[in-house]
Amino acid sequence: MWIRLRLDIGWWDLCNCLGLSLRPGDRQAALQQVGSPDSLVCLSVRSGFDLLLQALNFPEGSEILYTAVNLGDMVQIAQAHRLVPVPVPVLGSDYHIDVAELKRRITPNTRMLVIAHLYGARLDIQDVIEFAKERGIFIVEDCAQAWFSPSWTGNPNTDATLFSFGIIKTATASGGAICYIRSPEVLNRMRELQSEYPIQSSWGYPQKLLKLSLLKAFSSRVGYRQFAGLGRLLGKSVDHLLASLTRGFSKTNFLKQIRQQPATTLLRLLHYRLTTYNELQIERRIQNAHELIATLKLENIQPELLSTPHSFWLFPFLCEQPEELIAWLRQNGFDCTRRGRMEIVPAPSHRPELHCAGTEQLWDNTLFLPCYPEMSQADMRHMGNLILAFQSRTHHPEGE
Ligand SMILES: *Cc1c(COP(=O)(O)O)cnc(C)c1O
Repeated sequence: MWIRLRLDIGWWDLCNCLGLSLRPGDRQAALQQVGSPDSLVCLSVRSGFDLLLQALNFPEGSEILYTAVNLGDMVQIAQAHRLVPVPVPVLGSDYHIDVAELKRRITPNTRMLVIAHLYGARLDIQDVIEFAKERGIFIVEDCAQAWFSPSWTGNPNTDATLFSFGIIKTATASGGAICYIRSPEVLNRMRELQSEYPIQSSWGYPQKLLKLSLLKAFSSRVGYRQFAGLGRLLGKSVDHLLASLTRGFSKTNFLKQIRQQPATTLLRLLHYRLTTYNELQIERRIQNAHELIATLKLENIQPELLSTPHSFWLFPFLCEQPEELIAWLRQNGFDCTRRGRMEIVPAPSHRPELHCAGTEQLWDNTLFLPCYPEMSQADMRHMGNLILAFQSRTHHPEGE
């Protein structure tokens, strides 16, 4: 079975990371190596976003616009600051923001817009930026799923760009985030606030990396069978097991957990990953995706996959019978999923008309296909042909 997503770290890098985590390092040196004057290294994107909201200190009840498909925690952090999340619908297979709807959802209380670049797409957001800037809205670019090169620091016209190196993200360092903040005042306030946090202990990192190795072993083709077997033994689905193994923070005391300074080991792991990452990995992902686009003839059906710069962290495929197709692909050795850990940002309770039904529909009909570098172009063609076979079977059922 080709599992839906492989951890983006090789065995050699895992060994080196484990080595780093076993040797104590100097904190100042590590901070110097990975830090830069225009960025803040944080425990996670969620920690960085929480720091940003503390630094900006918007009045209670201010509205924060969000790309309607987002991580639930990102929305809950705003709620914890007594702010009101407002969803903005998205369109197309690159999940770009619906600008007309964005304009309609801005009110005098709107203070911030959080745009997520989803699944590896790097959206052109210039018109959104111009529109928001004119209204004094703070623009946050969530690039947690879109990192593709250490030299990319985000769109310079936004106010903040957030990158995550969490377990399932590209170039994982088992955690950590880099937040580029354009205003030196805001960045300094965030630095000051963070410096009062307790420092996360480096102590747990060797274990964390061993867990990562286990997950990596399970996500190989042979390991997956063992993993599914273990799931059956425990009475848990693969989705459930994966979710609990890759979850960074638990729900209890969530804010306390994210409000820590990154451990020295984490800083060193981040530095190691960013300086040694082989960008060929992403090149292969893109080639695989293009093979699939060609096999499925998607150039006209999902044109955004080619017109929007994309690193294909996941491959979003739009289809009409997602559950049936998932079952068919699993039967044939390809594990894929819908939704994952993302959620639809709910409409504020006093404005139910802002619910994004169209986005929910789009998302419900999106299947995330595996396309990582360990797969070959022949594997991609095989998966594509299986989908074509499924489509011709469902469009022309036997006996008609
Ligand atoms: C993973 C992710 C985050 C959170 O990143 P952490 O570093 O794990 O806090 C935020 N937004 C999106 C879109 C993500 O995919």
